[in-house]
Amino acid sequence: MSLMRDALLWASRNETLKNHVPRWGFVKRALRQFMPGERLEDALETATSLAGKGVTSMFTRLGENLTDLAQADAVVEHYLEAFDQIAALGLDTEISVKLTQLGLDLDSEYAARSLEVLAAKAEVMGNWLWVDMESSEYVQPTIDLFKRTKASHFQVGICLQAYLHRTQQDMVDLIPLQPGIRLVKGAYKEPASQALTKRAEIDEAFFRLGSELLTAQGVRLGLATHDVGLLDRLEVVARAAGVGKDGYEIQMLFGIRMEDQFRYAAEGYRMRDLTAYGEQWYPWYVRRLAERPANLAFVARNLFARS
Ligand SMILES: Cc1cc2nc3c(=O)[nH]c(=O)nc-3n(C[C@H](O)[C@H](O)[C@H](O)COP(=O)(O)OP(=O)(O)OC[C@H]3O[C@@H](n4cnc5c(N)ncnc54)[C@H](O)[C@@H]3O)c2cc1C
Repeated sequence: MSLMRDALLWASRNETLKNHVPRWGFVKRALRQFMPGERLEDALETATSLAGKGVTSMFTRLGENLTDLAQADAVVEHYLEAFDQIAALGLDTEISVKLTQLGLDLDSEYAARSLEVLAAKAEVMGNWLWVDMESSEYVQPTIDLFKRTKASHFQVGICLQAYLHRTQQDMVDLIPLQPGIRLVKGAYKEPASQALTKRAEIDEAFFRLGSELLTAQGVRLGLATHDVGLLDRLEVVARAAGVGKDGYEIQMLFGIRMEDQFRYAAEGYRMRDLTAYGEQWYPWYVRRLAERPANLAFVARNLFARS
């Protein structure tokens, strides 16, 4: 399985595949399992229907590693508009961005300014802006830019990946800033020098970091995992520490464990669903397949299904 995961993570970065696979109809059909559509309107519709079941949401428009800054401008414009539409519909929907989507590879100052613009908009709208964490070479610049933005904006959050060796220290450095922290296991292919590679060790790192974050003063915590066993264990820690169901958020991806998402909401947990949309879905989708190679069977089934 780990070979398959490695192959898929390699495929997620392969330029030739990235240019060809998105044209294949059966892959597009399979994609619908994880993505309601390519347009903002599709995501808004989904958020409205999730809200009816007590699940709040978070949007991310797919697209990373841009090749020119005009594309980054378009991303900022898109999210500014998204904040307005979310407010117009009265949705509890936040936004999460990747810094490479704001031009980090091309001009980090530009990405910093774009992040600032979006954080300011989130604040004006009474909303939150989250920053995704990408592969390990981006962790330091992401944390640096996040800290700069956090210095002048309160409602911003950052993702930390439990599999990275450095995350314990990053967490200790970030907690005093009282940010939003979204804890995930980590979705990229990383060398052993940077990250834990054994599943059981990653799970334990998530548990350890999650336990510390549950009692970190002033931190808005999102436990972003579909691992309900881990969530159960952390619930015990939370209860023992006097942290109630409203003391943290459970965050999952659209299309994964939806029954559990609705169950958590019905049981009174704060449940937030991350909905991705957009045309540039290839690397993101292949990382989802790598998390659970059994999903490939679903893609294969769509090869034979009618459109
Ligand atoms: C809200 C949210 C935001 C995220 N943001 C980031 C980010 O910014 N940076 C980053 O590196 N990673 C991010 N991730 C991805 C994360 O790092 C993991 O790769 C992903 O969540 C899978 O790990 P898991 O914690 O669900 O545990 P796993 O042990 O992988 O999965 C637990 C169980 O969940 C189910 N499951 C998990 N994944 C899938 C899937 N793809 N398809 C079907 N079932 C599945 C399976 O039943 C599996 O047994 C995010 C995840 C979430 C939920």
